[in-house]
Amino acid sequence: MEEIQLKGGCTCGTIRYLLKSMPMFVHCCHCRWCQRETGAAFALNAIYEADRVELLSGIPEMVNTPSESGKGQKIWRCPECKIAVWSNYAGAGETVHFVRVGTLDNPDALPPDIHIYTNSKQPWIRLSTEIPSVPEYYDLEELWPAESLERRQVHLSPISANSRSKRYKS
Ligand SMILES: [Zn+2]
Ligand SMILES: [Zn+2]
Repeated sequence: MEEIQLKGGCTCGTIRYLLKSMPMFVHCCHCRWCQRETGAAFALNAIYEADRVELLSGIPEMVNTPSESGKGQKIWRCPECKIAVWSNYAGAGETVHFVRVGTLDNPDALPPDIHIYTNSKQPWIRLSTEIPSVPEYYDLEELWPAESLERRQVHLSPISANSRSKRYKS
């Protein structure tokens, strides 16, 4: 594990967290749902095992939020300022946190590994060819580094393992 200090938190400072390693993967999602949830053009989520996200202060509250699959997304927010700090998708379960990269003290540290759902990308965004992009979703086993796939294997929830889910999106 790399020795890094990735800290972040909400706007009011109630929630502070520490990411204990680099993420398994970083999604830049251009789906309409993420656009609506962020009020912006895309969402940037760093995918972490829940136990590598350490709370330093505050306790986020969970808001069950509708998702495209109908299974819902659990979005964890600051109880005071309501900023979202991470979420759990039904497909990956609660052992996997999608950390909102924009809440890091240094969000520049975690650029995307892939652009997903570019079918609904806002047309003014020009993507570089250096980062893979896919029209919808993708097979994790094709694009994740071996080390990340191993980490994922260790932390898959029993439910996800049983359904042999390759999808980290609900
Ligand atoms: Zn706050
Ligand atoms: Zn999305």
